[in-house]
Amino acid sequence: MTTLDGGPGRPGDAVFADAVRTANLAAPAEPAAAVTVRSAREAEAAIRFARANGMSVRVHTTGHAAATQLPMAGALLVRTDLAEPVTVDAENLVARVPAGAVWREVVTTAARHQLAAVHPIAPSVGVVGYLTRGGVGVHGRARGVAANAVRAFDLVTADGASRRVDAASDPELFDALRGGGGGFGIVTAVELALFPLASLVTGAAYWSLEHADQLVPLWRDWTVDAPREATTTLRILSGPAVAWAPGPVLCVAGAVIGGSAAASDADDLLDPLRAVAAPLRDTWHADGPAAALFAHEHPAGPRRTVGDHLLLDEIGRDGVTEFLRVAGEGSGSPLLAAELRHLGGALAEPDPAGGLLDHIDAQFAYVGTGSAADPTITAAAVEHSAVVRAALSPWDVGTTVPSMVATRTQPQGHLDASRALRAEAVRARVDPDGLFAGDVLPGSPG
Ligand SMILES: Cc1cc2nc3c(=O)[nH]c(=O)nc-3n(C[C@H](O)[C@H](O)[C@H](O)COP(=O)(O)OP(=O)(O)OC[C@H]3O[C@@H](n4cnc5c(N)ncnc54)[C@H](O)[C@@H]3O)c2cc1C
Repeated sequence: MTTLDGGPGRPGDAVFADAVRTANLAAPAEPAAAVTVRSAREAEAAIRFARANGMSVRVHTTGHAAATQLPMAGALLVRTDLAEPVTVDAENLVARVPAGAVWREVVTTAARHQLAAVHPIAPSVGVVGYLTRGGVGVHGRARGVAANAVRAFDLVTADGASRRVDAASDPELFDALRGGGGGFGIVTAVELALFPLASLVTGAAYWSLEHADQLVPLWRDWTVDAPREATTTLRILSGPAVAWAPGPVLCVAGAVIGGSAAASDADDLLDPLRAVAAPLRDTWHADGPAAALFAHEHPAGPRRTVGDHLLLDEIGRDGVTEFLRVAGEGSGSPLLAAELRHLGGALAEPDPAGGLLDHIDAQFAYVGTGSAADPTITAAAVEHSAVVRAALSPWDVGTTVPSMVATRTQPQGHLDASRALRAEAVRARVDPDGLFAGDVLPGSPG
């Protein structure tokens, strides 16, 4: 039973066990009760149940961001997994996405119509969590912050009522739902703008880490004037994701859109890198729009991880040197992945129709991921994350993108003070009793 027919589950029963599953196994969810809702009506019933039993309400979908959650003592955890398909209105370039859907479903459905979405680098990421927390996508430099592509939400608020929230019906709530830090209710569906895309060039090229001293500066120099149609990530990888490699590798992955120019734009990036050394593996190729979702070859399935995230200004050659010192060959880094995501382009431009997090004032996002397989391994990853953080601190802009925040203990902050106040005002209106208060991320810098 995954519905509220018999009430939410309690620790030890099957309903509870199904609803508390988290994709990050190192961050178990431990609420007082839990339920998986399959419809908006069940989400409404969950809120009634919580109120009747004096519980607060927490929400999740995949639990990918479970390590960012506050403790759930005394809460009812609602897992959204609505029993509806993703549908595409190709004429109006819009997808309707039920909460619970992951990006694989959206991207593959849209691709049948030669349409693309503002998706992340992995197919298993939940659509609602990514969009409500901002979202830096594989086409981010061309399309901007992913949340800007939302056209409407179906939301069940703390009063237990379902409502459709868009720019006309409730502009303040609509803005707050797009990067305002959460705590506004249970999203049951999203209407998302798509864009026409017949083909792109996408993939990942991997080199032995011994070439990183030459490759990282070349990639950084290319980012300075890179076309906005190209969004790429430079990653230093080790562990199961690259078990095929003889050791740690450097990877340049991403996607280039822009029609007939895409192939030559990709060559401008990749030819100088390939001239340094032949890649160990090179999957860059022209393909349909769905291929970009799989290009980063992210390992599938739940994992035990711990991580960190920073937004960085232009790092220049000095920043490259520091990054290599703490993540490159001989650094002793135990991290599974140390990534620099190239931002800028449309990601840096405020969108007049966007939400509270409508752009990102930074040139790069750092995301580090370590194994949390056991306490010793976790401690090593946490310790080294602090070393990376210190090394990159001269370029740290002091804010974060909520979708990339990796732990609730790391410094956060994504809204300026006036936007954080706007989010607070909306919360005070739609959730005056603070039913969803545990779901709120720290909002303003510092
Ligand atoms: C492999 C991998 C790749 C990733 N790639 C990217 C990337 O390219 N770009 C990027 O920006 N981020 C990326 N992320 C981060 C990801 O976007 C965030 O972890 C995001 O929060 C995941 O959303 P979720 O719904 O899957 O996670 P959950 O942990 O289920 O949800 C996270 C939060 O979203 C909110 N939420 C979820 N569902 C609902 C709902 N129905 N109603 C209301 N609130 C809800 C809640 O506040 C919840 O705590 C990646 C993460 C992983 C693990």
